[in-house]
Amino acid sequence: MFDRVQVEPSDTSISEAIDAATRGGYDGYIAVGGGSVIDTAKAANLYATYPAELLTYVNAPIGLAQPIPGLLKPLIAIPTTAGTGSETTGVSIFDIRALGAKTGIAHRALRPNLGIIDPDNTRTMPPMVAACSGLDVLSHAIESFTAIPYARRAAAEDPAMRPAYQGANPISDVWAARAMEMVAENLVRAIQDPDDDDARGQMMLAAAFAGIGFGNAGVHLPHGMSYPISGLARDFFPAGYPADHAIVPHGMSVILTAPAVFRYTASVDPARHLTVAKLLGADTIAVGIREAGDVLADRIVTIMRETGMPNGLAAVGIRESDLDALVAGTIPQHRVTKLSPRPASESELRALFSASMTCW
Ligand SMILES: [Zn+2]
Repeated sequence: MFDRVQVEPSDTSISEAIDAATRGGYDGYIAVGGGSVIDTAKAANLYATYPAELLTYVNAPIGLAQPIPGLLKPLIAIPTTAGTGSETTGVSIFDIRALGAKTGIAHRALRPNLGIIDPDNTRTMPPMVAACSGLDVLSHAIESFTAIPYARRAAAEDPAMRPAYQGANPISDVWAARAMEMVAENLVRAIQDPDDDDARGQMMLAAAFAGIGFGNAGVHLPHGMSYPISGLARDFFPAGYPADHAIVPHGMSVILTAPAVFRYTASVDPARHLTVAKLLGADTIAVGIREAGDVLADRIVTIMRETGMPNGLAAVGIRESDLDALVAGTIPQHRVTKLSPRPASESELRALFSASMTCW
């Protein structure tokens, strides 16, 4: 048993797990926990099976992005949060401390062989953890549904280099759309009443559904912009998280920019953004197509308020003087930001961060 996984793993904590896996020479792995645990197990399995320098398989431009040479040892994932969907994806995300950048490894060989999705495993999840992880599900679903369409993406020169994230497509849409409905119907119930087994069960399924959706289509700006936000956590200690270090939880860091981002991307495909608002429960009957972005942003803000989110980046301790660092930290995330349906250069990213300082 390895129980030293770090919440929001780093290259250091991942390396410790890799060492333990390498020493143990195991036949397989069982990951019991949230995304941090499952992602750590994926990396430990990879490097114990195909030993290499850590950056070998890490996404470009930070790592060398070499394809994984073959199959890994069996991995069974048992999620204890309803958020990441990591039990369904071939993605492992962690911090590279020396570079101050969050990145990871994306390859289908990382995908667990089996996920065991049991709502009994989220019964004691603290409310704020349920809220943040549930909003991560929501953003996975909206981002994959609104990502650049697959047919507009350039083909990889070599099939082995084909990215895990392919852009929105008719199959990922099915999973993302259903996940949005399930989050809209169940997230608040699951947070408010931990004994509501049905709501918690639906949220766990929604996490897996959204995971299948974004594991194929990809995520875009809210995730790309979330990594520097998490990196700037200085004096924010949300209830229910370990109190030994400041943290802006992943789901929170993602949702804080979501209203501004979807207001920005709506002009590219307003009908699709309006569909999202409708799936999330907004009344869209009398809404003109030009209002799609505002209606969707307003609906997300309503859900944020219902789930106890802070009102924007300022409320988690981020200052106007951080804008340069936030933009600089987003640029290397082009693995995901290039999936935005509407490109965002430095000036647009800065405007999106600035608009997210307060959300309502
Ligand atoms: Zn996420």
